[in-house]
Amino acid sequence: MQTERCDILICGGGLAGLSLLYRAMKSGVWREENIIVVDQSEKKENDRTWSFWKSTQTDFDHLIYRQWKDLLFFCHDGERLALSSGNYTYNSIRSIDFYTHVITWLQQFPNISFVKATVEHIAAQGATSCILHTKTHVYTSAFLFNSLYEKPVLKKDDQYFLQHFKGIKIRVQLGMLQVKDAHLMDFRTGQQHGTTFFYTLPISADELFVEYTLFSKTLLPEKEYDTQIDEYLTNVLKITDYEILEEEFGVIPMTDYRFTRFNNHIVNIGTIGGDTRASTGYTFTNTQKTITKILAAYQSQGNPFFANETIGLKQHLYDVTLLNVLAKENYEGYQLFGDLFKNTRASVIFAFLDAETSVIQDLQIMKSLRILPFLREFTRAVYRTFMK
Ligand SMILES: Cc1cc2nc3c(=O)[nH]c(=O)nc-3n(C[C@H](O)[C@H](O)[C@H](O)COP(=O)(O)OP(=O)(O)OC[C@H]3O[C@@H](n4cnc5c(N)ncnc54)[C@H](O)[C@@H]3O)c2cc1C
Repeated sequence: MQTERCDILICGGGLAGLSLLYRAMKSGVWREENIIVVDQSEKKENDRTWSFWKSTQTDFDHLIYRQWKDLLFFCHDGERLALSSGNYTYNSIRSIDFYTHVITWLQQFPNISFVKATVEHIAAQGATSCILHTKTHVYTSAFLFNSLYEKPVLKKDDQYFLQHFKGIKIRVQLGMLQVKDAHLMDFRTGQQHGTTFFYTLPISADELFVEYTLFSKTLLPEKEYDTQIDEYLTNVLKITDYEILEEEFGVIPMTDYRFTRFNNHIVNIGTIGGDTRASTGYTFTNTQKTITKILAAYQSQGNPFFANETIGLKQHLYDVTLLNVLAKENYEGYQLFGDLFKNTRASVIFAFLDAETSVIQDLQIMKSLRILPFLREFTRAVYRTFMK
């Protein structure tokens, strides 16, 4: 077994690990540190596309593949809402563009090594050191940034929804594509499996991305995703003649389990660090916000320990409330999201989901929903959080 010591271990070089390292090197927060990135994949495939709304510049704007300004929401009964998204745009980054750009840029630094290996175990070694095992090597470091996800051991009342989805990029005959704007949520599909909607994103004059998405506790048989996509294309979008160019399948946990950020000198980032918003599954923006805090802390105090989480206690209580309302099924997801988008400007909803609203604004958003189920679950969430 070979042993190697470094200053920083990046355990998992996906969205969170690579974003952290890229931004640390770009901003000069890490210069001299010896850094090892361990990932079992070479990141040569477009294994996902990250979509997110934004109203300001990000460090990855140059990698944006498509951007939409005009957003639509379709209710289950077919009602069409043109969303007032203010300064926000909706954006997609293809993971392959991200991996290729970031890894190529990082390879210029002699103090960074990329190791392709499966991590078998990580642990804090006392209060100030970390250890990572692969089959053949043991690495130790001063800090370890971990983004390997494993399902947590849930407590009795924890909710664990899955956001599962299949997306396809299709090409239709030029001139035949009627979809011009992005459908942020399109509920014109059956709700028998849980909260179910389509993301529908026009890519070009003859290319369209549609993603069949569900919030529920179990996955569907593989064929069901295809059947539902075909029905939506045929009956709702009236597209019958198309060629499939790409496919994507994914599962994102939506849970009110409280993930641990710090374990001595291990820092959990990305989904395992709690950066996936439990009520939406969106992770990209929260991960970047966490990285901003880590780098600010590192710059000012020489360690990554920051105090205030973006998804703080208030946001946690809202997420617990929403997941429990969805779990009780007396206020169906399609009705809830329909009420939300009918009665609140999308720009305010985006700010709310980014944890950038005041309590007064939050209450205005709540007012757009059926108050009773929310009040009941909010009270329970507060009780569970503070009394148990
Ligand atoms: C298909 C898909 C689409 C998504 N779309 C969106 C979206 O549109 N918007 C959004 O905000 N979020 C989206 N998400 C959620 C979230 O943004 C992504 O999952 C994101 O990649 C999470 O970042 P991460 O760094 O936590 O994990 P990852 O990006 O998955 O990185 C973890 C890394 O660890 C490596 N790894 C895992 N196990 C081991 C091991 N034992 N040894 C070594 N290496 C290991 C993996 O190869 C990977 O590179 C999507 C998720 C999926 C699955």
